[in-house]
Amino acid sequence: MADGGGAKGGRSSRAWAVRLLILLLVLLWPVAGMAQALQVDRDFLLLGEATDQQAPVRVCTPEILARLTHVIQVQPPVGGWPGAPQALDVFNVFAGEVMISHGERQVCGHMQDARTRDSRFRAGIGMVMVPKAGNTDPILVAWEPPLKSRWIPTVRLGAPSPVQQSDTARLLIRTACIAIALALALSALMGYFTTRGRDFLTYALVCVLLVVWQSILSGLSGYPEPWLPVGRAAPVWMVAISALSYGVMIWMLWRLCGGRRAVRNSRRAMLWMTAALGLVALLTPFMSHHMLAVTAVALDGVFAAACVIALGVGFVSLRRGHYHVVDGIVAVVPLLMLMLADVSGNRLLVEYRVEAAQLVVTWFLMMSAYSLNRSLGHMRQQRDEMRQLADTDMLTGLPNRRAGLRQLEQYLLETRLNGQPLSIGFLDIDLFKQINDRYGHDVGDQVLVSVARTLESGVRNRSDVIRMGGEEFLILLPGSSADVALPRLEQLRERVSLQAAGLDHDGLVVTSSIGLAELRPDDNDVAALLRRADNAMYRAKRSGRNRVVDARDTPLAD
Ligand code: GH3
Ligand code: MG
Ligand code: MG
Repeated sequence: MADGGGAKGGRSSRAWAVRLLILLLVLLWPVAGMAQALQVDRDFLLLGEATDQQAPVRVCTPEILARLTHVIQVQPPVGGWPGAPQALDVFNVFAGEVMISHGERQVCGHMQDARTRDSRFRAGIGMVMVPKAGNTDPILVAWEPPLKSRWIPTVRLGAPSPVQQSDTARLLIRTACIAIALALALSALMGYFTTRGRDFLTYALVCVLLVVWQSILSGLSGYPEPWLPVGRAAPVWMVAISALSYGVMIWMLWRLCGGRRAVRNSRRAMLWMTAALGLVALLTPFMSHHMLAVTAVALDGVFAAACVIALGVGFVSLRRGHYHVVDGIVAVVPLLMLMLADVSGNRLLVEYRVEAAQLVVTWFLMMSAYSLNRSLGHMRQQRDEMRQLADTDMLTGLPNRRAGLRQLEQYLLETRLNGQPLSIGFLDIDLFKQINDRYGHDVGDQVLVSVARTLESGVRNRSDVIRMGGEEFLILLPGSSADVALPRLEQLRERVSLQAAGLDHDGLVVTSSIGLAELRPDDNDVAALLRRADNAMYRAKRSGRNRVVDARDTPLAD
């Protein structure tokens, strides 16, 4: 019957193998076909095909033109345009529609929708034109009222190639900053999953908020296609995300600058502040453009004040010796410098407003990540030290009972896997109470330390000697059968009895009794092994002390 079943089983498994093979072939067929199709059989690869589609051109409708309240004229050089191609690129017009026109040509583009812009310009809205030599028509540039009056546009004019290069450089900085924030958010999330530390979650939230904030500010929320539903509501999004991210950034700055420790009950104030900023964010959809502008300026003021306070608290904490707040100070200083440059109308900042803001925010995120990881490292170090303390016997420095039993369990598992023998020696100092009574507790302690050192020097691995408590020690002998362990324990017993001479106390005699036990296949856990070794040790006591007794020779062995 059994044979018949085996043959049947063999046949059915063969049938399954055939079916699996057929399935694999069926699946591999299209894959092989695809690989064939992907094969490059020429010395170049031509992609795409001819198209009859015209390049999309944004028509400037009267409705769009009506919104463009600011107009400038870019005049040609003296003597008219030189007849060479001219590129004009407009940056830093936040949240708006831009129109560029020269003569008959007119283009419109929206910062939050790259589909409406000339694809040769990715960080701004631009146009390439070839005015006839001597032509004196100015180029007209118009834009919507910016969210903040200081957010004036930058207009770059020149040969197409350098203008496009500068545009690409801006795009690179903008995308790199966003990529860094995303990478930091991901690593913070991983940090949260491994440590469950809430600071990591807050940090990831800050990163995500700042990714959205940067995307809207740089216009990348609309590139290559709008991936955030910002559209014409960009000012609303900007103010709402600013309120939220300022809230969490202030929270983090406060922590980084040591505010939690320096100002008692500041946690509640922080909660209120975050709630208030959250409320502002919620109200933004109901605000007029003017109201949004006022709110944006007010938020900047609140954030600037918070940065100044955080910096002050940072210096106070530093004076009190909390040097870790340097991270916070280093994070907050560029933020303040940016705000100062903004207020003073710095030319470089006006030119690179978006990139400067993104770089400063990236710096803040990196410093916060550094500080967070450092405190995590500190926490791990403290945990390791506590674990070490919990596992160590204070007097002798040996592993204590808890750590020893864990080590023994480990050896038991390994022994079961590799089939090697495992023996243990249970050592108890003879008449130790008398040593205490005669020479004093301090000398008793000295004896314990000295026995510990003697035993340690007699084993291969220092963690194989354990102080089980009082004057009892456990010696682990992995890889040794009882026959091998017996002479080694005899040697240790002898060394213990000799070491009293080194302690220099008149008439001090230190001897020990050791019970030896080897792991048996029927031992379910370490308790059975320990019990046999303990019984053997008592047998040694009863038969006159200062000796090693093998559990196999002990009637009480089981
Ligand atoms: P036996 O040979 O039968 O083991 O006799 P003993 O005196 O060694 O055994 P007993 O269990 O009666 O005494 C152990 C003594 O060890 C009692 C306790 O005061 C002492 N002891 C336990 N821990 C320490 C310690 O950390 N330092 C010192 N100095 N003595 C300790
Ligand atoms: Mg004892
Ligand atoms: Mg004793």
